[in-house]
Amino acid sequence: MSRIIATRAIRGAHKLVGRAEKELDRALEEKGPGTKVEFPNTGYFLPISYGLLGIKVRTLEDLKTVLEEAKRLLPPVPADKLWLPYLGHTLDAGMATLFADEIIEAIKYTQNPIPYLLEPSPRDGRLWLGAADDVILRERGIEFVDGTAPGFAACVGYCPTNAVAVKIARELQEKNLYVFMAADTEGRSMAQQLAEEGVEMGWPTRLVPFGNDVAACIHALGFATRVALSFGGAQPGDYSRVLRYNKNRIFAFVLAFGPVDDEKHAQAAGAINYGFPTIAETDIDQILPTGVCTYEHVVSPVPVDKIVAKAIEVRGLKITIDKVPVPVPFGPAFQGERVRKEEMYVEMAGQVRPGFELLTTRDLSDVEDGKIDIIGPEIDDVGEGSELPLSLWVEVAGREMQPDFEPILERHFHDFLNCAHGLFHMGQRDINWVRISKEAKGGGLKFKHFGSIIHAKLHSEFGKIVDKVQITVITDEKEILNRIGFARKVYERRDVRLADMTDEAVDTFYSCTLCQSFAPNHVCIITPERSGLCGAYNWLDGKAAFQITPTGPNQPVKKGPAIDALKGQWKDINEFVSAHSHKSLEIFNLYSFIDFPMTSCGCFECISCVLPSTNGIMTVYRAYPGLTPSGMKFSTLAGTVGGGVQTPGFIGHSKLYIESRKFISAEGGARRIVWMNRELKETMEPALRGIGRRYGLDNFVEMIADETVAQTEEEVLEYITGMNHPALSMPPLF
Ligand code: SF4
Repeated sequence: MSRIIATRAIRGAHKLVGRAEKELDRALEEKGPGTKVEFPNTGYFLPISYGLLGIKVRTLEDLKTVLEEAKRLLPPVPADKLWLPYLGHTLDAGMATLFADEIIEAIKYTQNPIPYLLEPSPRDGRLWLGAADDVILRERGIEFVDGTAPGFAACVGYCPTNAVAVKIARELQEKNLYVFMAADTEGRSMAQQLAEEGVEMGWPTRLVPFGNDVAACIHALGFATRVALSFGGAQPGDYSRVLRYNKNRIFAFVLAFGPVDDEKHAQAAGAINYGFPTIAETDIDQILPTGVCTYEHVVSPVPVDKIVAKAIEVRGLKITIDKVPVPVPFGPAFQGERVRKEEMYVEMAGQVRPGFELLTTRDLSDVEDGKIDIIGPEIDDVGEGSELPLSLWVEVAGREMQPDFEPILERHFHDFLNCAHGLFHMGQRDINWVRISKEAKGGGLKFKHFGSIIHAKLHSEFGKIVDKVQITVITDEKEILNRIGFARKVYERRDVRLADMTDEAVDTFYSCTLCQSFAPNHVCIITPERSGLCGAYNWLDGKAAFQITPTGPNQPVKKGPAIDALKGQWKDINEFVSAHSHKSLEIFNLYSFIDFPMTSCGCFECISCVLPSTNGIMTVYRAYPGLTPSGMKFSTLAGTVGGGVQTPGFIGHSKLYIESRKFISAEGGARRIVWMNRELKETMEPALRGIGRRYGLDNFVEMIADETVAQTEEEVLEYITGMNHPALSMPPLF
């Protein structure tokens, strides 16, 4: 670590311990050693010396013991020439500072009048409140334990302007943090700035002005110590437990505004002992490596408009948003709700316009938490019945975030958005589809609220891994078409991660019950060779999702003994599916679409169904709007196959599953495909050629009919007969 910062902290500690000694000597001389010393109305004596050393200070004489401890801890100021970079010296200096601060502040309570207002809020021009009493501790300390207040920001110095001071205070309040203010610089402090702007301060508003003296910083750590003693089960004198409790449970940090002198460096060193880092606006030396604090110890210079976000990141504070900020009713009860055409104000993406959803990981410095941008028209700019494209471009950052988690978070947009009354979401990746009802539009729901919902829900459900979220909602078609290629490359990269894994190579598959909000009995069983039918989850995603949320919708399922390996039926899988489909499914074949096939919810990318006279199947992609040779459009077929029931002869599945060796392998595999809609056939051409090679069929792609050559089942039969399609000579399907 830097010699400069250690020197400044140690020098500051020497100054404060020297000052404490002088003031104690003077007080002893003027008032006598038996003079009573106490903070107001507390059973915790002086909390730092009581909590960390177990010393019960009652008189000025008792303060001598605390002073001796401070002096004992004081390390020598580093020499110019020989410097051993030892964090321990800086920490000792910090601890000595805390004892010195407490002595200085305790002596103030022996003065007449006491320089603090003994009330919870400033009044009549009296700003400084000093130590909190035990009534405040009981009322407010519990909030640090139940999570109502995750922690506090100890603000020292003054902000560049009063407006900045107000903005920072509001930002911290919005994050439910307490703002403890102390230590002026050049006679000016943040609390004074707030007072000048008429901001209401005091414990009830969580803006607490402790004192203008640098030693008044101790009241923040004194409060934290009492929380550990009172609610954390720490015993007086058990400094290790007090400090560890604070590091692990109280999300606090120091914000240093303006010049940082030696004494403030010493306060920062004291806070580090509690695991509280310092974030400074001005350019001071940093202590970056982790060690005592969760991440960095001192970070600077950080511009004032970024300082709160940076502090939250460095302290590892997880943001929770209690209420999703949308103007319509919101909750899981609305997840299964649909918006019918006649109720609809606007329809987005789906089969009518392009769209996609993508979540990617960025560096912490590249993401501004809570930022929501709109590219393209807002809902107020379009008339009733409009059809619009829609992309949700979501960037997240987090110290624990991994790119492997991206598909899991992205897939949850579906259930997040569906919680809003009057907002219907279906699909994922580049087959997303959204409707907003007239009622929701009337209630004030806007496109920007897609961002508000995703921001709030990612924080509340994935706070363990996500620290920052920014969202761009795109309704401009040109912009979507510019970005869609990038999104598709990301989807492709995710899909190829599993290329060489087989179902036989693992003994555990993963379940997914995320879609039970729409299809209450539906269970996806995800294997290395069969992705979830939405195409958004593969086996690795199931595994990662279980890591993130062990009690979530993706559970590991052991296969157990095989009942029919060809059809893909295992004893333990049957039992799991039965238990999680509310006993509606007893037998479950993973590789058959005729005999007890996997159910389909509604999110499938494709539907395959039998065309009986051809002895083969047709496969249609979700975005295809036309009539298929089955006599039904995709939407009608979806009504037949979806809802979580087994429908022999019909399955919903992902695009990726078509190229799997396990694709309806019980019925002979992908060479049964006799018709595909043209767009799907074209996009899947390389995969279809691979399937052809697997079966020794050079012109397999050409053998498959599409809407340009066959629109009815009879036309398909005629076409494939001319092409000598292999399905015609395979065993009968029924
Ligand atoms: S379709 Fe299956 S894998 Fe995809 S989210 Fe729904 S239940 Fe999960």
